[in-house]
Amino acid sequence: MIYHDAIVVGGGLAGLRAAIALNQHNVKVAVISKVHPIRSHSVAAQGGINAPLGNHPRGIYDTWEKHAFDTVKGSDYLADQDAVIRMTKEAAERIYEMEHWGCPFSRTSEGKIAQRPFGGAGFPRTCYAADKTGHALLHTLYQQTIKFKQAAERNEIVIYEEWLVTDLVIEDGVCVGVIVLDIISGRLEAFQAGAVIFATGGVGRIYGNSTNALINTGMGMAVSYWAGIPLKDMEFIQFHPTTLLGKNILITEGCRGEGGFLLNNKGERFLAKYHDSKKDMEVAPRDIISRNIMREIMADGGFHNSYVHLDLRHLGEEKIVQRLPGIRDICLEFAGVDPVTDFIPIQPGQHYTMGGIDCNTEGETAVKGFYAAGEAACVSVHGANRLGGNSLLDTIVFGAIAGGNAAKYVQGLEGKKGEGALSDALKCAEQKIGTLGKSGGNEIQADIKVALNKVMDTKVGIFREASHLKEAVNDIKILQERYERIKLNYTGRRVNLSLVWALELKGSLDVAEAVVAGALAREESRGSHFRTDFPKRDDMVWLKHTLAYFTPVGVRLDYKPVNIGPFEPKERKY
Ligand SMILES: Cc1cc2nc3c(=O)[nH]c(=O)nc-3n(C[C@H](O)[C@H](O)[C@H](O)COP(=O)(O)OP(=O)(O)OC[C@H]3O[C@@H](n4cnc5c(N)ncnc54)[C@H](O)[C@@H]3O)c2cc1C
Repeated sequence: MIYHDAIVVGGGLAGLRAAIALNQHNVKVAVISKVHPIRSHSVAAQGGINAPLGNHPRGIYDTWEKHAFDTVKGSDYLADQDAVIRMTKEAAERIYEMEHWGCPFSRTSEGKIAQRPFGGAGFPRTCYAADKTGHALLHTLYQQTIKFKQAAERNEIVIYEEWLVTDLVIEDGVCVGVIVLDIISGRLEAFQAGAVIFATGGVGRIYGNSTNALINTGMGMAVSYWAGIPLKDMEFIQFHPTTLLGKNILITEGCRGEGGFLLNNKGERFLAKYHDSKKDMEVAPRDIISRNIMREIMADGGFHNSYVHLDLRHLGEEKIVQRLPGIRDICLEFAGVDPVTDFIPIQPGQHYTMGGIDCNTEGETAVKGFYAAGEAACVSVHGANRLGGNSLLDTIVFGAIAGGNAAKYVQGLEGKKGEGALSDALKCAEQKIGTLGKSGGNEIQADIKVALNKVMDTKVGIFREASHLKEAVNDIKILQERYERIKLNYTGRRVNLSLVWALELKGSLDVAEAVVAGALAREESRGSHFRTDFPKRDDMVWLKHTLAYFTPVGVRLDYKPVNIGPFEPKERKY
């Protein structure tokens, strides 16, 4: 049995920041990640990270209060306001910390961190490193993580890369460790730890049309869900307005922040036609713009019934090359268009999971010693709709908080716990994998995954209604039954990706079931969750968080109140 004082699952921004916090408290910590940390989806983040620094001439009076208000309003009042206040108060400190650790932010002419406009804020608040902000941030944190490898003054942060966590082990309401598959050798191991933090990212790949990396399967959230911790607000899935036609590669909101236009087939900036986007136009919140693009396409304002244009040409070559070089490369490589001279064909696509593992402002879950942070967690700061640039901030603020709290918890523990529970869980996991390997069924993992993606894309998308959602519930049930007859196309244990994908698919199916159950039950429209059969927000009944509990026969739903603070829920007028 392998022992570490604390284990962080996930090598993205939230996981690495949590590991650094544990290390700063002298706790011996290991990071487990199913891919090399810098291949985590965080590396793909483009447009930027919010903080009320006030470096832009139009934003000099920015404050954490204004940032908090914009976040709560953007969330359609479902965010917990204590959590939002915590995040916005700590934002500047975390950004300067990243700067001091060497993050190469883009600069103003005076040498300050540059800020660009993003949706839902009245002025520029989003710090950025060209259009590769996630890359810059993740590499900065990774360097901090490995800097103690040879140094004697602090503990080394041990990294297990290409290890897949399959089970969370809880004994008497206390988390005692995890079961992990070493993908290279195929060996299963029990990891014992005083505290475990899950920073396993989002579940975007339950959809087919998604900006997310293929690794964002939802397995991480599923592992904690199976262990009895509820998932919160899973019905709130963000659809990003601008993803490249057909490929769904993200075309950052930064393009519109820098002044890009959205045009219909008559060349009009059609957002002006819709009451909720006519004021802020291209920098209205994402849920509103995604819906209005779809409305425009449905009203024959799109091209080939499937896309509209993003126009950057008027920004000029110099600005595009300097501020949006990655976007230009993506357009050239994947669509054969040059934004300097051509329109970019775009359509909305799945982008972000507002829901996640239910935890509080301290990153604590209902289980002692088990914490969550980043996109996998639902604190909740994003409520029903996340503002662009707030997710990267969420990862480093709540990563640091969860790490700090886990450190204090571990330091108060006496002795190791849970050997028995861990060896039982290890045997169980061995058995499960053995059964999968021996299956005489005829179902292929990839077929079930494609079918799941289609269900989610077509029946649980931007516009939802009861009949489609009910069909989705049944479709997923059938896919879960088909999963029982899955056959691996390779049964050896070394680097068996067929086994890895099969294990992950179980997670995707169960998490998707929670998304649909929450969406069907919530008979209102709020933020990203738009019900054509219930088009109004209903605070009397639905100003509450959904909790989805796993049971062997399906999802059990429960609810809990939203923490309202200084900002009274109002109609979200823009
Ligand atoms: C294309 C794109 C662009 C974006 N741009 C922005 C932006 O400009 N601004 C912004 O604020 N947000 C942006 N976002 C959102 C933001 O990047 C993510 O929400 C954030 O980076 C998530 O970080 P994380 O640390 O929580 O998870 P991730 O970076 O996704 O990391 C998850 C980690 O968990 C590990 N893992 C998962 N399951 C297991 C398991 N079972 N066992 C072992 N390891 C596991 C993975 O290996 C990985 O290391 C963007 C997202 C996308 C997809």
